[in-house]
Amino acid sequence: MTPYDDIPAQAVRTEPRLIDGFGRAVTYLRVSVTDRCDLRCVYCMAEHMTFLPKADVLTLEELDRLASTFVGLGVRKLRLTGGEPLVRKGFMQLVASLSRHLRSGALDELTLTTNGTQLAQHAADLARYGVRRVNVSLDTLKPDLFRKLTRGGNLAQVIAGVDAALAAGIAIKINAVALKDDNAAELPDLIAWAHARGCDMTLIETMPLGEVEQDRTDQYLSLKDVRRELSSFWTLDDIHHATGGPARYTRVAETGGRLGFITPLSNHFCDTCNRVRLTCTGTLHTCLGRDDASDLRAVLRAGATDAELRQAIFAAIGSKPKGHDFQIAAARPAVARHMSTTGG
Ligand code: SAM
Ligand code: SF4
Repeated sequence: MTPYDDIPAQAVRTEPRLIDGFGRAVTYLRVSVTDRCDLRCVYCMAEHMTFLPKADVLTLEELDRLASTFVGLGVRKLRLTGGEPLVRKGFMQLVASLSRHLRSGALDELTLTTNGTQLAQHAADLARYGVRRVNVSLDTLKPDLFRKLTRGGNLAQVIAGVDAALAAGIAIKINAVALKDDNAAELPDLIAWAHARGCDMTLIETMPLGEVEQDRTDQYLSLKDVRRELSSFWTLDDIHHATGGPARYTRVAETGGRLGFITPLSNHFCDTCNRVRLTCTGTLHTCLGRDDASDLRAVLRAGATDAELRQAIFAAIGSKPKGHDFQIAAARPAVARHMSTTGG
């Protein structure tokens, strides 16, 4: 029994009602539940981060109300992220609560993106609440390099988390950021490792989000080049695998596993974008790469009725930009906020 068990389920099967100015239906919401994290990945955070005051962060009830309002407007997929979602106090209560939308049929998928450090403790409960797939971020299988890239992380915890989730029946996708100096040469091993465990694998290009200490131009690796290199010894067949995300998938004939490429820099995917992001402070960003923002926390905390809240969401979706224009060579990040704030 959780504190939310008596909340009535949302109405079933809602037609998409969030259509932007370019005719795209918004059916996918990512919610960052915290800006905090137990790791400090070099491309994501500065070493000494100033985290948000607690009062600025939405309570679990506010997160639930906002996410549930989106579900009521036709969002079919919810991804909880951060920061590190599993370090947020009460996170599993939120998952338990949101799982009512799975049971009612209003939601197709409730999922999360995690660094995996705490996954071993929570895998069985996640499975119990209907989480069927989880993305785990993992850039290397070398313990020393992992410690360096995450500024102190313990690789063994993440691997234990992946194994516990698999044992609980949760499908895992491993996400790795391709870094020219650090893991480029290791990517084939990482892919083979993931595929041997039955996990999908996705490679991501570094994106210029938020100030970090190092120069990201140095670490940027085009996935077109990675793909060309992998194709020199593996057979990559393009496949249609729709996850509602921006990855383009291939099947690696030799491993039998799926390999996705997310290429925000070398190849835009804005035309089919179906997603928006809610930060842990209740700011709605309708484009990852632009500075557009709607303050839904202000609306909530002003005592908005459900109708007023929906109205504020409609207004934000109506101004979703056509697309972004990241340039890795630009002197400044495309947007000042970190990925950990917006939610990756
Ligand atoms: N802490 C969780 C994790 O690491 O999976 C969830 C949040 S994290 C911000 C989500 C994803 O964003 C991770 O896969 C991470 O590698 C990726 N990420 C962070 N900063 C990035 C950047 N500048 N460019 C590309 N990907 C980034
Ligand atoms: Fe934390 Fe995820 Fe950012 Fe790494 S990528 S610092 S694990 S939020």
